[in-house]
Amino acid sequence: MIIDISSLKEGEVLNIENPNFKGMVKLFDNVYTLEGTASLEVNIECDRCLSQLLLPMSFDLHDKFSKEILEDDVDAEIFKISKHIDLNERINLGLLSNMPAKVLCHENCAGLCPKCGQNFNYNTCECDNTNYDERFDVLRSIFNENREVQ
Ligand SMILES: [Zn+2]
Ligand SMILES: [Zn+2]
Repeated sequence: MIIDISSLKEGEVLNIENPNFKGMVKLFDNVYTLEGTASLEVNIECDRCLSQLLLPMSFDLHDKFSKEILEDDVDAEIFKISKHIDLNERINLGLLSNMPAKVLCHENCAGLCPKCGQNFNYNTCECDNTNYDERFDVLRSIFNENREVQ
């Protein structure tokens, strides 16, 4: 969504409400302030089993814009704009900075078999994963190399 701010006058407030955002833009001292709450669902993969899931996310936006950027404004993180504010861009940036470090399809996701990739949430497999530790693979390969040399 593109917010047209060309008709906004000093001291005025423009309310914005759409399925993904509820908030406002206000103009004060030549600075446009966008504030409100974004709520949306993001398509993302489970970190453990890689299945697709819809992650509901909600976060606040608080951004400042101006048509004239003065030197002091750079420190104040005021962005330059001309006639409109790209709300989608602000929401996408907000998503990136609010994304949780780990996303799981559910708390007890059983993950994938490290050998054959079977999804343990739905199926089992024949692999022997008792005490499976990737470090053993490295040890085994070193051992095998030594054997070949002798
Ligand atoms: Zn999962
Ligand atoms: Zn397996």
